[in-house]
Amino acid sequence: AIGGTAYLAYGVWDLRHPEEQFEPDPSKKNLVILGTGWGAVSLIKKLDTENYNVIVISPRNYFLFTPLLPSCTTGTVEHRSIMEPIRSITRHKQAAVKYYEAEATKIDPERKVIMMDDNSDVKGTANKTEVPYDMLVVSVGAENATFGIPGVKEHSCFLKEIGDAQQIRKKIMDCVETATFKGQSPEEVERLLHMVVVGGGPTGVEFAGELQDFFDQDIKKWIPEISDKFKVTLIEALPNVLPMFSKQLIDYTESTFKEEKITIMTKTAVKKVTDKTVEAEATGPDGKKTVEVMPYGLLVWATGNAVRPVVKDLMSQIPAQKDSRRGLAVNEYLVVQGTKDIWATGDCAVAGYAPTAQVASQEGAFLARLFNTMAKSEAIESQIHELSSTLNLKPGNPGEIATAIEAHEKQLRRIKDIKPFHYTHQGSMAYIGSERAVADVSWLNGNFATGGGLTYLFWRSAYLSMCFSTRNRVLVVVDWLKSKAFGRDVSR
Ligand code: NAD
Repeated sequence: AIGGTAYLAYGVWDLRHPEEQFEPDPSKKNLVILGTGWGAVSLIKKLDTENYNVIVISPRNYFLFTPLLPSCTTGTVEHRSIMEPIRSITRHKQAAVKYYEAEATKIDPERKVIMMDDNSDVKGTANKTEVPYDMLVVSVGAENATFGIPGVKEHSCFLKEIGDAQQIRKKIMDCVETATFKGQSPEEVERLLHMVVVGGGPTGVEFAGELQDFFDQDIKKWIPEISDKFKVTLIEALPNVLPMFSKQLIDYTESTFKEEKITIMTKTAVKKVTDKTVEAEATGPDGKKTVEVMPYGLLVWATGNAVRPVVKDLMSQIPAQKDSRRGLAVNEYLVVQGTKDIWATGDCAVAGYAPTAQVASQEGAFLARLFNTMAKSEAIESQIHELSSTLNLKPGNPGEIATAIEAHEKQLRRIKDIKPFHYTHQGSMAYIGSERAVADVSWLNGNFATGGGLTYLFWRSAYLSMCFSTRNRVLVVVDWLKSKAFGRDVSR
């Protein structure tokens, strides 16, 4: 009975059998989608795949539910719980979708091909090839911004992918274990237990909150000798953290961090990083600048996004992209400016919105609607064409055919009337530690700013409902219960 329930929960009845292999249909267009993140997956979910030869290329063969990534760094949530295999997503589609685990290294808009490399650790004889496209969607996201600051790439941990979260989780425990090594000097203990987070955007704030929770709720219990030595510092170049939230919630976050004993250093910009120190320049109220060198054990770099090389390279080939700096400039239908058959969504596109999951997923859904409509209107156009030639052939019976053509044309006008992309902001939320969250929510035409324990429950239920599948939802709930009941796992 449990097995049966699980099958129902998966929606297995509407799965296509994997044996139904993908055979490209030469009469259909090749629609190539680069990426398996928010934009790409939301497009795939809503796309009528029977209209195109759909090919997905991404170095990551799963979708990652990024809002819960900071929770993975401390084991509040296990990483597999927020991953959904791309093949389980495409199996729900009406017509097969081809997936290649590869990194797109170059887009050639002249020849209309994608060059890709097999990015797996296991190499076969074929590991570099080309895929032709008729229509292309670039949803490759962005990479971590380092602003060329020396030492950042070499010494810090980022927080974008599952591997980053795993690396952080291991490093937290490495620092704690090494700090308690017999004979460790007090200065070295202090350094090892100093956890520095650079960037006071939602990523940095959520991670700092999760880290302090891990320490207060678990590490301290098991290793009490370090209880007064563990320290989290958040460094932000601007005058306050979470600049996208309302003033009231910024104040609430800053006072909660004070209670949690997280040090916030605002108006402080990191200028250099070495293997053991962070050098930051603070601007005082009088405008005077002072430089501070802080020893650290773990450094997490969360200063936002930078353009990926494959996107930069594409931009350099299109003259209309000359003035765009932050990514591919797109028009109101998400068509890459200067092209006719390339679209872009999410963090690699510049459409006038913040680089968030919410924007990317609405853009993906919009493109699915657009492509479904394009396919429908092409089908109707060819019907009209066929009917018109019949009309010419059979001059004796024009009335019926002409009426049919008229009806088709009316339907075509209705379908073609697709409005440009419009983003609907539903709000922003962030977890700030000690079971509190902040939320700026747009609801019933109003904006509500709320913070605290109830907001935390709202945050949890909202994120749970946003999880990709029922399987993910069940796994996340089990992880939450597990870490509440038994504490987080403090093994490395
Ligand atoms: P961000 O761009 O929002 O914030 C980065 C911060 O780093 C900025 O405030 C910047 O001033 C600071 N910074 C840059 N260089 C610095 C330096 N050298 N020293 C000190 N500080 C420096 O980055 P993010 O938090 O990774 O978020 C990226 C995007 O994803 C944003 O649009 C964000 O809204 C979105 N996001 C949203 C959520 C959420 O809603 N909960 C969570 C994560 C990310």
